[in-house]
Amino acid sequence: MGHAINFRPTPALAIAESNQTFPVGRIYCVGRNYAEHAREMGHDPEREPPFFFMKPADAIVHNGATIAYPQVTKDLHHEIEMVVAIGKDGANIPVEKALDHVFGYGVGLDMTRRDLQGEAKKMGRPWEMGKAFDNSAPCTALKTIAMVGHPAKGAIWLKVNGKVVQKGDLSEMIWNVPETISYLSNLITLRAGDVIMSGTPAGVGPVKAGDKLEGHVDGVGDLMVSYTK
Ligand code: MN
Repeated sequence: MGHAINFRPTPALAIAESNQTFPVGRIYCVGRNYAEHAREMGHDPEREPPFFFMKPADAIVHNGATIAYPQVTKDLHHEIEMVVAIGKDGANIPVEKALDHVFGYGVGLDMTRRDLQGEAKKMGRPWEMGKAFDNSAPCTALKTIAMVGHPAKGAIWLKVNGKVVQKGDLSEMIWNVPETISYLSNLITLRAGDVIMSGTPAGVGPVKAGDKLEGHVDGVGDLMVSYTK
């Protein structure tokens, strides 16, 4: 039976060196997963269980795009993150089996309306309007595990207008990728097509109209997006 309305196409990520795409189901984001970033947000980075929030799949923006500065915020922030694309369903996945569920990796931005997130935190309300808005998930083409393996160390950085503002190493994650997948799969059943944004290193900060963002993860790729003036 056909749909009763015109529905948008399934959001999808490009795959490097392929004419196939990776359809995106759900986007899960890990909060405060690098100690220095936890500290800059005013938290003690002791190893508390990881926590998650979500973005809609159609928040995806492709590499190279120019994005309109989002609605209502006066404090849009960048968070550069490695993206983990899930290729196989699973619940209660043990850490040792977690990487079997990975299709590939990308470089993404967890764009954040920090002012709205801050108000929500203060009032004990959900973060969605600070995190899950239009165009809030720019992401590169994915590299498959055949191309890149499972990156566990290597530089992750972001430049704004050519200046490095965020810098870290994948090895500094509080919860590494297998641990994150395992933990998340105990909370929900992970599905092929789900995408995990694995947390951001220190140095988050504001993005202004007209800014150019260049993000990098060693071996995984380079992301470039601009905001309209
Ligand atoms: Mn984040």
